[in-house]
Amino acid sequence: MILYKRYSTEEYPAYDNYDAINVDKTAEIPMDWAGAMGVPITFLDKHNPEQFEILGTSDNGIVDAELKTTPGLRKKFVDDYYASGGTGSYREGNPTAGYYKDGAAKMAYKRIFVRHLRDGRSERQEYLQTAIQWIKDDGETVEDYMGAHQHDKTATALLNNFQSIINRVERVFPNYRRPMKGVDWGGLYGLLQDESLVDPEALEAETARLMVDDDVTRQAGIYPYLLTREERHLSIRAFTAAMKQKAFELQDGICKSCSKEFELSQMEADHITPWAEGGRTVEDNCQMLCRDCNRRKSDK
Ligand SMILES: [Zn+2]
Repeated sequence: MILYKRYSTEEYPAYDNYDAINVDKTAEIPMDWAGAMGVPITFLDKHNPEQFEILGTSDNGIVDAELKTTPGLRKKFVDDYYASGGTGSYREGNPTAGYYKDGAAKMAYKRIFVRHLRDGRSERQEYLQTAIQWIKDDGETVEDYMGAHQHDKTATALLNNFQSIINRVERVFPNYRRPMKGVDWGGLYGLLQDESLVDPEALEAETARLMVDDDVTRQAGIYPYLLTREERHLSIRAFTAAMKQKAFELQDGICKSCSKEFELSQMEADHITPWAEGGRTVEDNCQMLCRDCNRRKSDK
């Protein structure tokens, strides 16, 4: 089941008699709520035991040592329910899941209590959500998109497509790291399929090295970099103003490439040994080039 909603106190009231929140529709199970949740019984049609654990039902209560196991409605709650026009027959001690919404006491229909299983799947879920960013319209929220398309065939096709992208990503980069969420995997899908680029072990070794490289200032860029070898993805650390000033003075304002004289403001810093060949963003590896020479060099 692909989730897209985030928890909010307004939308997911806590029950009065269970340590759980109320979820009106199975599709609206919040992806980021770690505790118990009461969901409609239609949940069972979509239940994946690798995604959720079932804790009990509102017939018998939650069977869990850490959570409240005396589920009976409080007398006060039942009184409030009838005072605000509630119907049906409920009594103190009844296991029905009750909650307050907008100040009024409400009784939920029969609920199954579930909880997310924590096994990295929730993180995977988060980047699946990122995937939705790839196709939704600008100005549309992920929630709008999912709400509008969850049941149509096109959405199923798209979600299957995302799933194949995510599966491929997991094969190529089996070690999940948090910055993976910020990657436009949809745009990299073609490259991910290219077997000549893809050697999971070598990529893992390189990823691990780049993740701790101080000169890489954009970790999410490591993935597109490994597939395209375009350094711009990494936002390699820039030389500081002090490093530039020092190099400028050592060169007497002469461009190291064309040997003409320039003002500091007309020059740009350049790695003498390129970063890709092991050159660091340090004073000793800094030279100043005039803007034209530097642009020409970086175009190569
Ligand atoms: Zn020059």
